[in-house]
Amino acid sequence: MNHDDLPAWSARAAEWIRAYHAGLRDRPVRAQVKPGDVLSALPPAAPETAEAPDRIFADFERLIPGALTHWQHPRFFAYFPANAAPASILAEQLIAGIGAQGMLWQTSPAATELEQAMIGWLIRATGFPEGWTGTIHDSATVATLCAVLTMREKALGFTGLTEGLSGAPRLRLYASAQTHSSVDKAARLAGIGQENLVKVPTRSDLSMDPDALAAAIEADLAAGHMPCGVIFCAGGTAVGAFDDIAACLPVARAHGLPTHVDAAWAGSALVCEELRPLMAGAADCDSIVFNPHKWMGAQFDCAVQLLRDPTDQIRTLGLRPDFLQTLEEDAVTDFNEWTVPLGRRMRALKLWFVLRAYGLDGVRTRLRNHVAWTRRLCESLRSEPSIDIVTEPRLSLFTFALSEGDAATEALLTRVNAEGRIYLTQTHHAGRFVIRFTCGTWDCTEADVMEVRDVLRAAIT
Ligand SMILES: *Cc1c(COP(=O)(O)O)cnc(C)c1O
Repeated sequence: MNHDDLPAWSARAAEWIRAYHAGLRDRPVRAQVKPGDVLSALPPAAPETAEAPDRIFADFERLIPGALTHWQHPRFFAYFPANAAPASILAEQLIAGIGAQGMLWQTSPAATELEQAMIGWLIRATGFPEGWTGTIHDSATVATLCAVLTMREKALGFTGLTEGLSGAPRLRLYASAQTHSSVDKAARLAGIGQENLVKVPTRSDLSMDPDALAAAIEADLAAGHMPCGVIFCAGGTAVGAFDDIAACLPVARAHGLPTHVDAAWAGSALVCEELRPLMAGAADCDSIVFNPHKWMGAQFDCAVQLLRDPTDQIRTLGLRPDFLQTLEEDAVTDFNEWTVPLGRRMRALKLWFVLRAYGLDGVRTRLRNHVAWTRRLCESLRSEPSIDIVTEPRLSLFTFALSEGDAATEALLTRVNAEGRIYLTQTHHAGRFVIRFTCGTWDCTEADVMEVRDVLRAAIT
C-alpha cells in the first residue's frame, strides 16, 4: 500500500465507520467472545512478504468488530464513556496523516500553539480565571502523576530529582477514600508510597471532612512527617462523590500545601454554568485535570490539565539535554517539559474540530440531556418495587440494587450484560453490591437511556 492507494482505502474505511456507527444498536454492547478466541484466530508470526490490502481489510472485518466491546454504542452505560464525535474522528484522521510529534515548539509550531489556544478556549469555557494555563496529556493518570511529582519536589525543595528520596523526610499526601486509583498509583510511582497516601475520612455525603483533613495534617506534622499536597475528588468513579473543595481548601492553604483536583469525568460539566457549584473552589486550587475524551466529544486520548502557574511543574519535569535545546528561541513553550513522555501527539486538533463543529452550546446541550435523562431513569427505577436506588444521581451517574440482596443483584447484572442490549458495571457501596448506571456516549438518546428500565423489568420477572 502506498500513498496513491490510500485515498480509495480511506474512503472505504470512512464508509465502514459510517456503517459501523449506524449499525451499533443492532450489536450486543459487550463483546461476546471467550478469552483466547481472537488470539487463536491470528497467525503466530508476521508475514515475510507483503499482503494485499483486500486481504488485510477482509480479515479486519472478519475478526475484529465481533470481538469488540462497543464503546460508541448508544446503550453503553458501563464505564465513563470514551467519546468519539464525528468531527473528532476526522481530526484523528488528519493527525494520523500528518504524523507529527510535537515534543518541542520547533518540532511543529502548529501543534504547540494550537494546544495553547485550546487551553485558552477551555479556561474561558469552564470559567477558570484568566492567567491560568495548561497542557493536554494522554490520560488523567499521567496528569495526576505530574501534579504529585510536582508536590513532592516542591516539598523537598527540588532535591528529590537529583538526590533521590532516601534520607528525605516521610512525605504525606492527602485524598479522600472516594478518590480514583490513579491517585494511589501516583503516590506509588512518585516514591511517596501507598502508606503515605492518607485517605481522609468523608462526611455522610461522601465528601472529604475538612476537620479530619486538618487533624491528619497536624498529626503528621507532630510526628515529624512532611505533608506535600492535597488531591480533591470531583466526580468519583464509584458513585460520583464530590469533595467540598471550598470547605477543605482553607485547610490546605493554612499549611501552604499545593492542591490538585481529579475531575477526569465531571470536569467537562464545568462548561455548564449551573453545574459549576458542584465543583466550587476548583478554580482556587493549583491544578485540575479533566478528560474531554470522557464527556466533551473528543476522541480518547485527550486529558486536559489546567494550572494556576506551571513553573513548579516545569521545574520538576523539564529536562533539556543539548539536542532538545531550541536554538535562538527562548520565549517558546516546549510542552514535553510539562509532562512525563517526551513524544506528544497533536491532540489539540481534536478539540479544535469538536468545539467548532458543535459549539459550546452543542456540548452543553448533550451534557444537560445526559444529566436530565439520568434523573428520569432513576425516578422510573425508584418506582419499581424490587429496586432500591442506593446512591442518587450525581450528574449522569447513579447506583441501584435489588432489595432481595447482593446475590440477586449480581445475577441480574450478569444476565443483563450477557443479553447485550445494554451494558452496566458494578461497584460496592456501603457494604452492598450495587449496579452503576452512567451515560454519555455521543449518540445516546433518551430512548436508549429509558430502554434500561425495559431491559431490567424483563430480566427481573
Ligand atoms: C477515568 C478517571 C480517571 C483515569 O483516567 P485516565 O485518563 O484513563 O487515566 C481518574 N480519575 C477519575 C475520577 C476518572 O473518572
